Amino acid sequence: MIRAEGIRKRFGAHEVLKGVSLAMAKGEVIAVIGPSGSGKSTFLRCLNHLETIDAGRIDIEGDTLVATDAAGHCRYAPDVEVRRICRRMGMVFQHFNLFPHLTVLQNIIEAPVTVKGLKREAVVPKAEALLRKVGLSDKRDAYPARLSGGQKQRVAIARALAMEPDIMLFDEPTSALDPELTGEVLRTMRQLADEHMTMLVVTHEMGFAREVASRVAFMDGGELIESRPAAEFFARPEHPRTRAFLDSML
Ligand code: ADP
Ligand code: MG
Repeated sequence: MIRAEGIRKRFGAHEVLKGVSLAMAKGEVIAVIGPSGSGKSTFLRCLNHLETIDAGRIDIEGDTLVATDAAGHCRYAPDVEVRRICRRMGMVFQHFNLFPHLTVLQNIIEAPVTVKGLKREAVVPKAEALLRKVGLSDKRDAYPARLSGGQKQRVAIARALAMEPDIMLFDEPTSALDPELTGEVLRTMRQLADEHMTMLVVTHEMGFAREVASRVAFMDGGELIESRPAAEFFARPEHPRTRAFLDSML
């Protein structure tokens, strides 16, 4: 579903990604963990073209988003193609990023109507089904300001799903929430995983990583240090930096 090879990214003099590679199969749930500033968000943002890369290659479901030629030039697919490829990925952010002036239902149907050009009448029943799925049917006509953080994040998940993505990217979806609200969001994500959604999840929730992820990837200092099946990863972390990080989380 995703193949990223040798991704490099710098902001000015600071090289934030130093050749990150990761391959992800259909139905896999990969948890990306690592200290703050290690490049986790940047890596996710490069995958769906919210950031451009400086070198490397990204293929999404067999289509090349960007590749670097022998001369070291990084070439993106044509714009239409880039948009088509990136539409297969839904993204959920730490800070929800809902449209404050739109109701919950309007937030969910916005992209299917304006980006995909679907008819409102066709999209509303789907949006209502998604609201049932995330347990928020009663909030259909509420504005985001009236929702708790956990409810906002569940709306954000429903909104991403409304575009019918093949892959979901989550960037610390529970980090901005009060601890008592993380459970409802993690439950929604677990439900998606049970339905075999392909998910790449940056998270500090070690319980979620351990129980839901098929694989855990550890990033540190702009490098992907190791990526292994979750049980192995926690039982026998191979790299000293991984061990030090896991110890610091206890
Ligand atoms: P993480 O998500 O693991 O905490 P990030 O990917 O957000 O890490 O950031 C990695 C590094 O890149 C940090 O040092 C951060 O300050 C820097 N960085 C991220 N985005 C930008 C940006 N737009 N401009 C400059 N530096 C950035
Ligand atoms: Mg981050």
